[in-house]
Amino acid sequence: MRQKIVAGNWKMNNTNSESKLLLKKLLSYKFPPDVRVIVSPPYTQLSLISNKLKNLKIEVASQNMHYASNGAFTGEISASMLKSSGVFTTILGHSERRLYFNETNKSLNEKVKKAVNENIEIIFCIGEELDDRKSGNHFEYVKLQLEKTVFLQPIESWKKIIIAYEPIWAIGTGETASPDQVQEMHSYIRNIISENYNESLAESTCIIYGGSVKPSNAKNIFSQPDVDGGLIGGASLKSEDFAAIVKATKCQSYTA
Ligand code: PEP
Repeated sequence: MRQKIVAGNWKMNNTNSESKLLLKKLLSYKFPPDVRVIVSPPYTQLSLISNKLKNLKIEVASQNMHYASNGAFTGEISASMLKSSGVFTTILGHSERRLYFNETNKSLNEKVKKAVNENIEIIFCIGEELDDRKSGNHFEYVKLQLEKTVFLQPIESWKKIIIAYEPIWAIGTGETASPDQVQEMHSYIRNIISENYNESLAESTCIIYGGSVKPSNAKNIFSQPDVDGGLIGGASLKSEDFAAIVKATKCQSYTA
C-alpha cells in the first residue's frame, strides 16, 4: 500500500527564529501516524531543523541538490553536505528552479542519478505550463519530462523516487487543478510508469499533487484514487493550514 505524504516547501521564507516557531507549532499537532509529514526549509536552516526533528515524526528535505560531489560550484550544495546535515530527502526539478535557475531535464537527470547513488530520496517535480494545458499537450509535456530524467533510471532507483505533479499554472496562483484534472494526470503518470517498468512499480510509486492546495480543497484532491498526498507551498507557512492539509489525507479524525 502506498503511503500518504504531505511535504511543505518553505521556499525562501522565514528567518531562523520564524522557522523555529513554525516548527514548534507543527510539533504541537498529533498527526496521523501513517502519514509522512515533511518540511523543506532553506539550506541555512537544514541542520537547525533536522537537529530539532531528531527521533520525531516530522521529516526534513532540502529544496535542491547539486549533481557534483564537490568542487568549484559557488553557491551550490552537495549530497554529502545534505547527509552531514541530517537530510536524506531532496526536492528536485521544482518549476521555480527550472524557470529562474535554468534547470533542464539534462541537468536534472544528472541530479537524479547523483541522488540515487548517494541514497538520497527524491521528490521529483514535473508539470506543464498553461499553454500546454490549453493546447491539450499536457500529457506529452509531462511524459517527456519523465522520459528525459527519472525514466532513464533503473527500476531499483525507484525505491527512492516520489513524483510530484505540479502544473505550473496552479503554483502560487491560487488556481488549483480540479480533482478530476489531478486524477486524470496522476492516473496517466501511473500508466506510463507501468509501461516503462511494470505494474507493480506503478502501483507502489507515490504520486503527490502540488499547486495552491489549501485546507478548503485538500480533501477533494487527496481523496482521488491516484493521489498520494501533496507538495504544499504557501499554505505550509501557516501551521494551522498545513496541519489541516495533513489531516485532509485521512477520513478519520485526529486530535490536535
Ligand atoms: C509549490 O511551490 O510546490 C507549490 C505547490 O506552491 P503553492 O502551494 O503555493 O501553489
